[in-house]
Amino acid sequence: MNKMEDSKRLYTTDSTLREFDATVTRTGPKFAVLDQTAFYPEGGGQPSDTGKLIVNGEEVQVIKVIKRGKEVFHYLDKDIQLGAAVHGVIDWDQRLQFMRLHSGEHLLTGLFEARGSGPKVFSSFSQLDFQPSEITEETLEEVWRRFDEIIDEDVPVDIYFTNRDELDVGGDERKQSFLEKIPKNIHELRMVKIGDYAETFCMGTHVKSTGEIGKLKSLRLEPKKKRKNIVYFELGD
Ligand SMILES: [Zn+2]
Repeated sequence: MNKMEDSKRLYTTDSTLREFDATVTRTGPKFAVLDQTAFYPEGGGQPSDTGKLIVNGEEVQVIKVIKRGKEVFHYLDKDIQLGAAVHGVIDWDQRLQFMRLHSGEHLLTGLFEARGSGPKVFSSFSQLDFQPSEITEETLEEVWRRFDEIIDEDVPVDIYFTNRDELDVGGDERKQSFLEKIPKNIHELRMVKIGDYAETFCMGTHVKSTGEIGKLKSLRLEPKKKRKNIVYFELGD
């Protein structure tokens, strides 16, 4: 039986989950869909987790994880059997690194946008693009200083769910345009809030508080491209 079933995405409610048990609900050449998973599939500027599945005492490597529709596909180094019980183990050092960078990107976005540098139109682990934008060296210095202070404050990173109809975007252009891009059939939105500094819709994985992100190692402004201001950042070890 190969019917399509939703994969329960455990990372949306617990991003600290490193291991989990699941059942294989669909298979194909070197891939498997599970009834539930803690592996984060790539998306939202965050790459996919890697790790392993333990099946009958044998290790199968998880090379890449991608969400297609409501299913999460785990790409493997070998085939596994439909209906098999598996124990998933995430490469935690890598995930933690991803969560630090991704959460840091949220905080930086909030700090820049609060200073009129925005809205943000693109982000990755190390790059933030703002348009329209006028970012000065003074803004850059101010953001860096505030970022490091907020790391010291160890502000909680809160996740909450809200109904899209109840969400007040308060005339915020970026939130409004982001909201319009989310398919109309999705009513419950997952929000990520870092104190009063940053709040956005996001399905990604995040650290529990800003202290885990760590301070900036670099923050620099690239020459403008197509009216976009491009900011690069790196975190310390
Ligand atoms: Zn996020």
